Amino acid sequence: MNKKIAVIGGGIVGATASYYLARSGQSVSVFDSGTGQATAAAAGIICPWLSRRRNKKWYRLVSEGAAFYDKLLADLASDGFKTDAYARCGALILGQTPDYLQEVHDRALERREQAPLIGDVAILKGSELKQAFPPLTNAEQALYVGGGARVDGRELTKTLLQAASHFGATIHNETISLAKDNDGNLSVLTPDGPPQRLDAVILAAGAWLPQLLQPLGYTVDVRGQKGQLVVLHQDEDSDPQTYPVIMPQGEIDLLPFGNGKTAIGASHENDKGYDLEPDASVTDPMLEQACTWLPHLKETAAADIRVGTRAYTSDFSPCFGGVPGLQNCFAASGLGSSGLTSGPLIGYLLAELAQGKESSLPIEDYPAAAYIKLTARQN
Ligand SMILES: Cc1cc2nc3c(=O)[nH]c(=O)nc-3n(C[C@H](O)[C@H](O)[C@H](O)COP(=O)(O)OP(=O)(O)OC[C@H]3O[C@@H](n4cnc5c(N)ncnc54)[C@H](O)[C@@H]3O)c2cc1C
Repeated sequence: MNKKIAVIGGGIVGATASYYLARSGQSVSVFDSGTGQATAAAAGIICPWLSRRRNKKWYRLVSEGAAFYDKLLADLASDGFKTDAYARCGALILGQTPDYLQEVHDRALERREQAPLIGDVAILKGSELKQAFPPLTNAEQALYVGGGARVDGRELTKTLLQAASHFGATIHNETISLAKDNDGNLSVLTPDGPPQRLDAVILAAGAWLPQLLQPLGYTVDVRGQKGQLVVLHQDEDSDPQTYPVIMPQGEIDLLPFGNGKTAIGASHENDKGYDLEPDASVTDPMLEQACTWLPHLKETAAADIRVGTRAYTSDFSPCFGGVPGLQNCFAASGLGSSGLTSGPLIGYLLAELAQGKESSLPIEDYPAAAYIKLTARQN
C-alpha cells in the first residue's frame, strides 16, 4: 500500500531517499530549509580506496558507496534523467616523495582485489603524465587511479529532486519542526499548514539533526564543521571534460569539470562550526596553492566561493538507521568529508528501511542509536 512519507533535508541523502521512495510509488514530501547544505557546497572526489583510515566498517560503507553510483546513474538514465554531474574521470595522486606514491600504489593494488572499480593503477612520469594532464606543472610523477570520479553535489541533487518530482514527490523550501504523540508517532510542523501525520519520516538533516531532535528531548552527538570551496570559471574551451581530478598531499584537491570550470577545495574549519560567511583569508591561500600546479588558473576572471556545513560525530563515524523511541523514523548524519561518496547509498538504504525492507548493509555497524539519545522529557 502507498505510504505517506516525509523526508527532512534535500541534500544528497534526502534527495536520493526521496527519489527511490517516489519511484517505488510512495507519497513523498521533501522539506529543505536551503541553508548551509553541505551537498550544495561540495564539488567532490569519489576515490575512497586509498585512505589510510583503518576503520573497516567505514571503508566498507564508502567503498560500496562509490560503487553504488553505477546503479544510481543507471536508474536515473532509465527514468529519462541523464546528468553530467558525475564523471569517472580518473584521479592523479601527487606525492612529495616517490616512496609515498609507491606506498599508495601498493595499497591500491591490494584493495583492487576486493574493489575492482579502482581500475587501472600506474605511476606516471614525463610524457605519460603530460599526456594525462597537459597543464599540470611542478609534478615529476603522479599515481593514476582509473576508478577515481568527481561529482558536483548541487547538480546531482537537482537532478534527483527533479526525478523525485516526476514520480509525484512534492518539494517544499521550508524549515520544519517535529512533534510526537505518546506512542512515538511523529508529525511534521510547517510554518503555515496544519500538523502532518505520516507513515514514516526520514531525517536527512545533516549537521542540523541535533537542533531538529532537541525539542523532542534528544541529545545528538553531531557537530558542524565549516567547509569552503572555490569554483573558477574560465573560457569554455580551456579544459576538456576528460581531465582526471588531482589529489595533492594535504588539504586541497583540484577538480576540473570541463567547460572551463575548476573547483578547488576544500577547507575543514572546526572552530567555525555553522558559520556560512566566505572568508578570503582561507580561500586565497587555497587558490595560490592550486596555481603552483595549474598556473593557467591565475588568469581566471570569475570565482564563486561555496560555503557549507559538514556533520561530524565525536568519533568521526557516520550513522544511519532507526531513531530510538520514535515509530517509523529513520535518520542519517555524521557523513563528514566523505558524504558525497557514502550519501547516495545511505539515502537508498533509508528509503528501503522506511518501506519496511531490510538494509543490504548491516545497520548495526553504523548505529544511529549510539549517537541519538533520549535524555529529557519532551517540552
Ligand atoms: C566544501 C565541501 C567539500 C566536500 N567535498 C567532499 C568530497 O570531495 N567527497 C565527499 O565524499 N564528500 C565531500 N564533502 C562532504 C559531503 O558534501 C557531505 O558529507 C554530504 O553532502 C552530506 O549530505 P547530507 O545530505 O547528510 O547533508 P546536507 O547536504 O547538509 O543536507 C542537509 C539538509 O537538511 C536541511 N535541514 C536541516 N534541518 C532542517 C529542517 N528543520 N527543516 C528543513 N530542512 C532542514 C539543511 O538545510 C540541508 O539542506 C564535502 C563537503 C563540503 C562542505
